[in-house]
Amino acid sequence: MSARIVDGKGMAAALRARVAAEVARLAAEHGVTPGIAVVQVGAEPSSQVYVRSKGKAVSEAGMRAIDRTLPVETSEADLLAVIGGLNADASVHGILVQLPLPKQIDAHNIISAINPAKDVDGFHPLNVGRLARGLPALAPCTPLGCVMLAKSVHASLEGVEAVVMGRSNIVGKPLAQLLLAENATVTIAHSRTRELGAVCKRADVLFAAVGRPEMVRRNWVKPGATVIDVGINRVTDESGKSRIVGDVAFAEVSKVAGAITPVPGGVGPMTIACLLVNTLRAACAPCPCSIDGQCRHARLRSFQRP
Ligand code: NAP
Repeated sequence: MSARIVDGKGMAAALRARVAAEVARLAAEHGVTPGIAVVQVGAEPSSQVYVRSKGKAVSEAGMRAIDRTLPVETSEADLLAVIGGLNADASVHGILVQLPLPKQIDAHNIISAINPAKDVDGFHPLNVGRLARGLPALAPCTPLGCVMLAKSVHASLEGVEAVVMGRSNIVGKPLAQLLLAENATVTIAHSRTRELGAVCKRADVLFAAVGRPEMVRRNWVKPGATVIDVGINRVTDESGKSRIVGDVAFAEVSKVAGAITPVPGGVGPMTIACLLVNTLRAACAPCPCSIDGQCRHARLRSFQRP
């Protein structure tokens, strides 16, 4: 058996096109162009690749990207002042702070200072709490993308056994919350989980977000299961060539799984597309026709939940 390859790149392109169409409508009918500020402290080469690809996606969707790259020695007080300025700027609808931050800055203080309505990363404690409470919230982009990918295979996740490997605040925990909201039966596994392989093998849908190259082997996967691989790991092979692999041993697991996301080309592109979705939602929240923060004007209903 060979698994269906879930085409995250294609799905992300389609989602970005839908967002672009709504952005054009918002501009034409309300004169609003969604703006997202990308705040980066220090220009780490690995972060810059992500920042550039986010900026490109934002521009291609017809949104405005505001680059705030600050020197690496920026103090926490100065960064808080920048965030305050962006909070107050009505043309900025989304604020994204590139993590990690240099050691003189407490990331929690910075994230907590972002206006929750502009928190397009979904990391602000208010959005975290609202998501946990089952209320409308800006949810983190990678988990949103993961659920969309899973739902491209399973029309409904109701009652399915979902196993999430990893309990980070940016992937594992919010992913588990989103899956609960879909009425899945959710298990969260982590580094202290006993019999990890057996736990994973229970899954109808297995999400791997551990940051361990090719950790999930074929004997951990139930035949026919859906496998969503969040991992992005750079490895160097014997010939000294470096490449990106996921947390799942793709070649062998794709022989037993029913569907699987590739790395690259799976979760990664969906993360960026979901950032655009969150920015569009944030831009629509203050729209004159919005009720309870949900704009009736832009056809956002299908974007509200994955
Ligand atoms: P993280 O903060 O390092 O968390 C890793 C999680 O995996 C932790 O909960 C850890 O458990 C668990 N873990 C680590 N080793 C384990 C093991 N041997 N057995 C079981 N569990 C183990 O990582 P993250 O930020 O969530 O990211 C996870 C992966 O996703 C990374 O490869 C990252 O690059 C990738 N990622 C991709 C995207 C994307 O857009 N595609 C976005 C974000 C992250 P403990 O809590 O017990 O330590």
